[in-house]
Amino acid sequence: TARRLEGVGSTIFAEMSALAVRTGSVNLGQGFPDLSGPASVVEAAYDAMRAGRNQYPPGHGSPELVAAVVSHQRRHYGLELTPDQVVVTTGATEAVAAAVLGLVDPGDEVVVLEPYYDSYRAMVQFAGGVRRPVTLRAPDYRLDVAELEAAVTPRTKLVLLNTPHNPTGHVLSRAELEGVADVARRHDLVVVTDEVYEHLVFDDHRHVPLATLPGMFERTVTISSSGKTFSFTGWKIGWASGPAELVAAVEGAKNWLSYSSGAPFQPAVAHALEHEDAFHEALRDDLLAKRDHLCAGLAELGLEVHVPQGTYFVTTDVSSLGWEDSMAFCLGLAERARVVAIPSQVFYEDGSEEGRHLVRWAFCKEREVIDEGLRRLRGAR
Ligand code: PMP
Ligand code: GLN
Repeated sequence: TARRLEGVGSTIFAEMSALAVRTGSVNLGQGFPDLSGPASVVEAAYDAMRAGRNQYPPGHGSPELVAAVVSHQRRHYGLELTPDQVVVTTGATEAVAAAVLGLVDPGDEVVVLEPYYDSYRAMVQFAGGVRRPVTLRAPDYRLDVAELEAAVTPRTKLVLLNTPHNPTGHVLSRAELEGVADVARRHDLVVVTDEVYEHLVFDDHRHVPLATLPGMFERTVTISSSGKTFSFTGWKIGWASGPAELVAAVEGAKNWLSYSSGAPFQPAVAHALEHEDAFHEALRDDLLAKRDHLCAGLAELGLEVHVPQGTYFVTTDVSSLGWEDSMAFCLGLAERARVVAIPSQVFYEDGSEEGRHLVRWAFCKEREVIDEGLRRLRGAR
């Protein structure tokens, strides 16, 4: 194997889902919903297949999906984009990959919020870049902008941001984002911001796209995906948007990764973006109730619960139950209780103490599944 694979292993989500199958566990690990998105969108995919949309779509994206992303950004955020400022990708995963590969040279530094989504680490490594983590600390996971600034050096090429944040559920506030914007403008940095959970924000928290702050559109690549937004994680339709030069760099790399994908799903996701705004609200309300239910159940078991502001994940500190190591806890839990969760330590730098006791639980599951998970956890106490 090539050196670029060293230390990145296989993804924790695949490992833990395989463990769930092997042990017959309730899977509260990998973040995928139990239920599909809107029926009208599934119909639109069938229609597209029947209409013969089964060959390579344009690498840039199907025109109606590009137009729908333009219209979504205008309607929700007042951002005015042109079609050359959008590129469709094979999920947000490919958008992140293409952004990093298209923008980072070997030796360049990438500032990244720790804990970080696992593909960020692999992609920075593939590009030959160097991670400069800035840690969001439990229990509130606020971003210390002074620490972000301290991570910037003359070699910094980009900041890789994620809000709402996986795994912590932290939603960067306008004040935190203004701090990021200030640092980016003063140091002339590009920011790639992964906003796949843009519509999954609870209580009085609000998602603010970084690109809407003054002077930021021209230096920001914004990423989202139909996986989280419409509960079609297996369709792998994502997109990136931003100024044409940055989008061209993303597309320049993406052309040599998948080139294009998901022909019939692209018009279906266009339909979703144009006609299914109500789905976000329904999904959010449903997830809010499930968040509260799972958080209450986990707290009752004696876990310290860090209630998320967004996403469909909740983090707990298992040291309150006497466990020091979240990996040992999760591996043991699958055997003992037949419940799978994600050891958040894998989202931190190797050997970091910060994430050692943290475990992530997904609540994008049917109520009965969450209940069965809680029942098993209670029984295994
Ligand atoms: N970024 C984050 C923060 C995620 O949680 C995920 C997982 N859905 C992705 C990117 C990948 O998205 P996709 O499934 O669209 O590739
Ligand atoms: N994003 C999902 C999560 O955080 C998993 C995606 C994947 O399996 N790669 O759970």
